[in-house]
Amino acid sequence: MTYQIHIANTDYKFSAEPNETIVQAAERQGLILPCACRVGSCGACKSQIVSGEVDLGKYQSFALSEADIKSRLALLCVAKAKSDLTIKVRDVKLSHYKVPGFLTKIIDKTEVAPNLIRLVLERENGRPFKFKAGQTYDVVLPGDQRRYYSVASPATQSTSLEFLIHKVPGGLFTSLLFSEGLKIGDGLRLNGPEGCFTFKTPKGRKALFLCTGTGIAPIKSMIQTLIETNDLEGRDLHVYWGVHTSKELVVGELFEQWAKNHEQIHFTPIVSREEAWKGVKGHVQTQAAIDHGDMTEVDAYLCGNNSMIKAAINFLTVRCGLKDDHIYADSFGG
Ligand SMILES: Cc1cc2nc3c(=O)[nH]c(=O)nc-3n(C[C@H](O)[C@H](O)[C@H](O)COP(=O)(O)OP(=O)(O)OC[C@H]3O[C@@H](n4cnc5c(N)ncnc54)[C@H](O)[C@@H]3O)c2cc1C
Repeated sequence: MTYQIHIANTDYKFSAEPNETIVQAAERQGLILPCACRVGSCGACKSQIVSGEVDLGKYQSFALSEADIKSRLALLCVAKAKSDLTIKVRDVKLSHYKVPGFLTKIIDKTEVAPNLIRLVLERENGRPFKFKAGQTYDVVLPGDQRRYYSVASPATQSTSLEFLIHKVPGGLFTSLLFSEGLKIGDGLRLNGPEGCFTFKTPKGRKALFLCTGTGIAPIKSMIQTLIETNDLEGRDLHVYWGVHTSKELVVGELFEQWAKNHEQIHFTPIVSREEAWKGVKGHVQTQAAIDHGDMTEVDAYLCGNNSMIKAAINFLTVRCGLKDDHIYADSFGG
């Protein structure tokens, strides 16, 4: 059975098989819908089902809430059509699918800690990058496979992009990156920017940032952008960064410096697997709960491995009263 999908308020129509996601079906026919994680965990593809029925697929509840489902929203990266559909896609530009993205060149690739690379890219044509702090770009690999990476540099820096990338054993892209398979001077095709994990907290409201490992990248971009645009007045920003060993705190000194220079910024590095570490040990959510207690009026930005995000949401909503609609999360998988 093949279903027809119409994108409301446009002339775009495409067909979908029952076993493919709506995003996959669109791409197969030359249409790009906005999405980032492709595993139902970031919310970038959340869209309205105007008519028809979908199988919502496997999604994370922080990316698609009960209220979203009641409002007939779905995550198009995991949802599949169960009938003909009309969908309304928010904030989208639709483009015909040719060769996706644009070419960049690797201008720096440094192993800043064991299994952790700082990658810097410039555009081949010298044009600026335009993104919002917290967003990702995807690296386009052969066979049109994508890998998403959050920009670590501030949005004020438009001539290059900086990423912090952790090695995943046996991983397709990171195996190339952590070998001579990708060298300084080599080209890399990127697509983006994508994602809605951006800073949204109004002045006067406390913002907590809980991240693990390379989840610090979009947080660095957000905080550095606030600093460089002189937008710290009236803000209260608390960063909790969890790593296994202190060697992974590759931008720790920078955050320490920001916390020293700006009373609005507070930084707590947390190390979980190093006996000799004298600072805070354990989990980011536990320390945030100890420091802040009641979280009914705070925003929380959660970024990094999926298990931390799930555990932090469960713990902080129950223990501290953190509200679902004050949670912003970007899951890197794992
Ligand atoms: C929105 C978003 C932003 C991201 N930003 C960053 C970033 O800034 N820095 C960064 O280092 N990574 C980031 N990631 C993760 C990144 O996209 C890749 O998943 C990761 O680098 C592995 O790619 P790979 O091709 O080497 O491995 P793959 O070939 O994709 O995977 C190999 C195996 O490892 C598992 N795996 C994949 N990813 C992970 C993971 N993150 N942890 C544990 N196991 C995994 C897979 O299930 C698979 O079994 C982000 C992911 C998302 C969705």
